[in-house]
Amino acid sequence: MTAAEVDTQAQPAQTTWQDDAARDLVRNAGDRYALFVRGEGSSLWDADGRRYLDFLGGIAVTSLGHAHPVFVEAVATQAATLAHVSNYFATPPQLALAAQLKRLAGTGEAGRVYFGNSGAEANEAAFKLARLHGGSERPRILALKNAFHGRTMGTLALTGKPAMQQPFEPMVPGVEFLDSTVEALEAALDDRVAALFVEPIKGEAGVLPLPEDYLTAARELTARHGALLILDEIQTGAGRTGDWFGFQHEGITPDAITVAKGIGGGFPIGALITFGAASDLFYPGTHGSTFGGNALATAVASAVLAEIERAGLVENARVRGEQLQAAIGAIASPLIEGCRGRGLLIGVSLTAPVAGAVVAAAQSHGLIVNAANETTVRLAPALTIGDVEIDEFIDLFTRALTSVQDALPTETHTEPATPSEATT
Ligand SMILES: *Cc1c(COP(=O)(O)O)cnc(C)c1O
Repeated sequence: MTAAEVDTQAQPAQTTWQDDAARDLVRNAGDRYALFVRGEGSSLWDADGRRYLDFLGGIAVTSLGHAHPVFVEAVATQAATLAHVSNYFATPPQLALAAQLKRLAGTGEAGRVYFGNSGAEANEAAFKLARLHGGSERPRILALKNAFHGRTMGTLALTGKPAMQQPFEPMVPGVEFLDSTVEALEAALDDRVAALFVEPIKGEAGVLPLPEDYLTAARELTARHGALLILDEIQTGAGRTGDWFGFQHEGITPDAITVAKGIGGGFPIGALITFGAASDLFYPGTHGSTFGGNALATAVASAVLAEIERAGLVENARVRGEQLQAAIGAIASPLIEGCRGRGLLIGVSLTAPVAGAVVAAAQSHGLIVNAANETTVRLAPALTIGDVEIDEFIDLFTRALTSVQDALPTETHTEPATPSEATT
């Protein structure tokens, strides 16, 4: 046997990262497209050294972009100081973040903050808040059809998507789903409703805004019936829509909001923020989390929010969002119908159900976006983006649209008929 032959026999067959993923990861999601090893700002690099422009931001999570110096410094410094003690104790970063969130949400003195580690945990806490408010007199909880509130059993029960619920039935009882109209809300509300859960913009459903003045009407109607108004700001919060939180656009005061995603800038954290009397519902023993609100997570979120504030990124989200929507509107592609959303949470609406193909084409051109549904491409880039990122996005996105358009069978081409064709 030659040395080369011994070598080949001793080594296991070469496996790719795709093989590893297919063998080792739970099959709750489809195949992964890339193996990312590094990020900086709005750039990502895969294991082959290929660069991508990231316009998804980990789904509205990496608000400062990747590897931002403020994020890196906060993680390193707090990890070297104190990462975790049990919730039998308080830490300075935890108290600082609670005060910061109360200020940004405008709760005033009476507000309180509960910390968890994800959006679903924030909404679980909100669900329990609703039950504490409702007791046996108010067993009903209202939520909107097609909204998304999470994947745990409680938050899945709040999520008005029958296909997602069905494999996991029976659901936690008491939740009813409404059309997103003021009339539907008016008809459903009575004095047996504990709470209404609403996303200010339905992100997962395709960046679908509520009807104009819905939140104002919802505030009035829930208050009249003594029900809590609980807003899921997990995707819309932390400056993403051009206000600190989506509800501030309509100038209402909810009873509670939930936040996660963007507040940690990539560090896992979620929170329930209560306003007014809803702040007195939890009492000792009613809820808790081992990791929730630990010193490391809260120090990082605190630094991320402080940087968003210092660098004027809420305003940047508003201005760059308008710029981006205008630039997308100017792309000459028959596939583009228009844009929905506010600030840097944008749904690009397509004229054909090809969002999946557009996302795949974008990836092959080096652009990361996602398909919120068959006809909507979702954009949720870092709040730090400027002209350079927007120009590159428009270039890559236009090329992706062209690839998809060129691949469409001719009879389903979506060019509007010319006047002469239309009249013959
Ligand atoms: C992402 C999201 C959640 C769930 O958050 P996780 O951190 O994935 O548990 C809930 N509600 C909304 C609106 C979201 O966008």
